[in-house]
Amino acid sequence: MNDVETNTPAFSSGIHAAGVSIRGLRKSYGNHEVLKGISLEVAPGDVVCLIGPSGSGKSTLLRCVNLLEQPNEGTIHVGGFESTHPDVEVDKMRRTVGMVFQHFNLFPHLTVLQNCTVAQTKVLKRSQADADATGHKNLTRVGLGDFADRFPDQLSGGQQQRVAIARALSMDPELMLFDEPTSALDPETVGDVLSVMRNLAKEGMTMLVVTHEMGFAREVADRVVFMDGGVVVEEGVAEQVIGAPTQPRTQEFLKRVL
Ligand code: ADP
Ligand code: MG
Repeated sequence: MNDVETNTPAFSSGIHAAGVSIRGLRKSYGNHEVLKGISLEVAPGDVVCLIGPSGSGKSTLLRCVNLLEQPNEGTIHVGGFESTHPDVEVDKMRRTVGMVFQHFNLFPHLTVLQNCTVAQTKVLKRSQADADATGHKNLTRVGLGDFADRFPDQLSGGQQQRVAIARALSMDPELMLFDEPTSALDPETVGDVLSVMRNLAKEGMTMLVVTHEMGFAREVADRVVFMDGGVVVEEGVAEQVIGAPTQPRTQEFLKRVL
């Protein structure tokens, strides 16, 4: 089952990790305020898990980080970029951020390797040979080195999600955002995806992860942030926030998911 950990060679990371700093972030849709003044820090190389009930604003927060949504107020720094600065070079900033969603949206008509190379050649202007080499390296990294020539529909959901991670890593991101990466998967394929994420954390990648996998959060997260109703209710190390929450709303939520 756990083929990722046993078959993946140890990679010397070579990761250049960026930090994230969010201050006073507000976001509304019409007159519905979804983020009500969020402040959040992720130090370079750290893993922060974001937990909270559905509708609390977790996805909106992630989407604000790489400006898939435009914040109404507040500042966001990603590595050397101030995302919220009016003159920010959005494309350059986005290139430092890899994003993995619940629904992985691979191109069905492209092979696994082509899924990992198309943005490298189109966006980063890498040669096909360089892109292929980087794609192969990252498919090996997620335990799918032998699947390069398959098509997405020949893979399990968990394998497809690992391809989506390899695709993101092939752009050499300095920060990875994960939005419930295992929520849509069959239970038996979840473990391999979490193993890949665990390895990535060990290699020193900065990661902001929305997840309901409390076991993963306890084991991997440097800090856990509990959000509800567009505010950060409680944050700290996993042992505290998940193990001994002090806020009633956190306690209620954990009772439901644990
Ligand atoms: P979570 O990821 O924690 O479930 P979301 O960030 O997806 O929460 O959503 C927070 C709130 O914002 C929800 O009430 C949702 O309906 C609303 N929302 C999210 N995206 C949009 C949008 N594009 N337009 C209008 N409302 C939205
Ligand atoms: Mg969400």
